[in-house]
Amino acid sequence: MELLNEDDIKMYVYENRLKTFEGWPFDEGCSCTPENMAKAGFIHTPSGNSPDVAMCFFCLKELEGWEPEDDPQKEHASHSPSCQFIALKKKVEDLTVEELLKLQKERQKLIIIKLCNEPVTKFEEAAKLRKADIIKTVMGED
Ligand SMILES: [Zn+2]
Repeated sequence: MELLNEDDIKMYVYENRLKTFEGWPFDEGCSCTPENMAKAGFIHTPSGNSPDVAMCFFCLKELEGWEPEDDPQKEHASHSPSCQFIALKKKVEDLTVEELLKLQKERQKLIIIKLCNEPVTKFEEAAKLRKADIIKTVMGED
């Protein structure tokens, strides 16, 4: 696997993250402005019925249900305490190549874990629904 292809490292750059926040519902006077969201590592990943979903490009933690006074840095740190991006003491531009490669290795590990867990989560959700159906049917026949 190539560690540093251009597309993959794009989101390390603040401006590229900021660009994703088109149509973000919070602006002037809010804590979670696009600028603050992007600074805290988030990218905007809206879906049909959830316009305010944001995901950390690094740890892939998704958060929604934002309130105007939410501080993106604090929310990020409290929901994903082990995220190495939020724990960075330097700006990405100031990292050495070695440090960046180390980060990127960690990030790709997180991506693989997420990809592997997705079908499991989907299956578990489906199983839960099916179980509820079965219980309903059984109870109904009593
Ligand atoms: Zn993160």
